[in-house]
Parts: sequence; C-alpha cells; structure tokens
Amino acid sequence: MLDIAQCPDCGNARTLFGQCPHCGSDSTPDLSSDTIEINLKQGSPLVEEALEQLTDYLRKCLALGIKAIVLIHGYGASGEGGHIKRAVHEALENNRFADRVEEFYFGENVAYGTHNYHTLLRRRPGLKRYLKRFKEGNAGMTVLLLGSSHRNA
Ligand SMILES: [Zn+2]
Repeated sequence: MLDIAQCPDCGNARTLFGQCPHCGSDSTPDLSSDTIEINLKQGSPLVEEALEQLTDYLRKCLALGIKAIVLIHGYGASGEGGHIKRAVHEALENNRFADRVEEFYFGENVAYGTHNYHTLLRRRPGLKRYLKRFKEGNAGMTVLLLGSSHRNA
C-alpha cells in the first residue's frame, strides 16, 4: 500500500486503518489521495474472511472519503487466489456491496487506452497512477468506485 496517509498528531506516514505505529494515535489520518490500493490476499484469508474484510474496508474507506479502490485479489485456476477472485466477482455481481460500491470494473477490462480505462480516469483521476501499470489489464485486480445514491455521508 502506498503511503498516502499522514498522522495528524505526529506527522508521520501511516497506514489507513488502526492506530498510528509511531505515536499510537487513533485519530483519523489525513489523506493525500482519494484512491487507494487494498490487497485482499494479505494474510492468506479464507474466502469468507476475505469478503468480511472487504466489507469492513469499504465501510472505513467511505468514512475516510476514499473515492476509488484498486482491489488486489489475485487470480489463478486453483488456490485461494482464484477462490477469492471468484467470490469477489460473484459478490459484486450479486450486489452484495451495492450500498457502498457504485461501480466496479474487473481488471481484465481496463487495459491501457481502452474505453473503460478512459471512462475510469474521467470518473476518478486518482486512478491514473495505478492503472497505467497495467498495459494489458490485470486479472488479479478489480477497480471499485465507492459511493451510492442512498448513503448518508
Ligand atoms: Zn502518529
């Protein structure tokens, strides 16, 4: 994850969630970007754990004002990476996260220069530095645009 958050109490770079590792502050971090990358594979969770983690991340990200997430879920015909990817795709397609995710784009479909690529950058310019890495798309990730018409934030 990129260092996009700063502790408002000690000024050090910190991760988005949990306490500041430098001073232990619980204050909401200051963000330098409205786009973040989340690696759902970290800690090799089981599929259901990964989905629960994602639910939690989405809630926290919305509260922090995050607008877009590059979600790394991995891929593969077998193994947990493939399972998590399938579960994430399925959950999105079944609107499991519809109250927090306004739109989603599978990594396969956002190759550099495509219509989707340009649409995404128009909607969320902060995605540029993430997407430009994927010349041919990336089946191991999904782009989530956060927000919904019926949230109170
Ligand atoms: Zn701190």
